Parts: sequence; C-alpha cells; structure tokens
Amino acid sequence: MKKLRLARPDGLSLFLLCLFWCLLIFAGVFRSWVLLALSVLPMGAALFRLLTPSVRRKKENDLFLSILRAPLRALSRRRYVFKSCPLCGAVLRFPRKAGSFRAHCPACDGRFPITISSKEKSP
Ligand SMILES: [Zn+2]
Repeated sequence: MKKLRLARPDGLSLFLLCLFWCLLIFAGVFRSWVLLALSVLPMGAALFRLLTPSVRRKKENDLFLSILRAPLRALSRRRYVFKSCPLCGAVLRFPRKAGSFRAHCPACDGRFPITISSKEKSP
C-alpha cells in the first residue's frame, strides 16, 4: 500500500486557500452561484498542490513569490534603503533616515559604516 505524503503548505497554497475563503464569503454575501462555483477552482488547486508534492510545485511557488515580491519591494523602497554588505555582498535593508551610521550584517556578522543621504536611490 502506497503511503500518502502531503506537502507542507507553501505561499501559493495559502494564497489559493485565502482566495477560496474570500470567494466563498462573497458568494454567501451576494448569494451568487457563480462565485460559489468559482470558489471550487482555488480550493481544488490548493488540494492538488498539497497532495502532489514535487519539484514542480516548488517551482510554481517560487514563480508566485517572485511575482509577489516585486510590488512589495517597490512599496518598501519608499520607507527603506537597500545597500549591499561590503564584506559578504548580502543585500541589507535600512530605514530611509539621512545620516552616517554603523551597520551590522546578520549574514556575516560584520560591522561597517554606512552613509544614507536624504535623496538616496536604492540599487
Ligand atoms: Zn555581510
């Protein structure tokens, strides 16, 4: 007998489950059979993803996260400045506050001085 193996819920699966619940709630509020029928699609896709763990599911999730990351990063650029660590090259996020500071890199545990100007552009 083949053992059933479930995937850990990833970002895409959680998004699909949230979409399912939103469609279900809207279907109830607006008494819409179309929304109720449409809610089956994300639920089915989320169940399919959970029941068939594979490298392909991981690639789908990575694509979803990369699509989601671009607008979130654009929003965060208004409040933060991104600079690379001179010691290890890791991209670090700093509050958009003008001045000279001593930074700490959590990736390599290095410390280095940084200067953030008021009109700083992120890389
Ligand atoms: Zn570093």
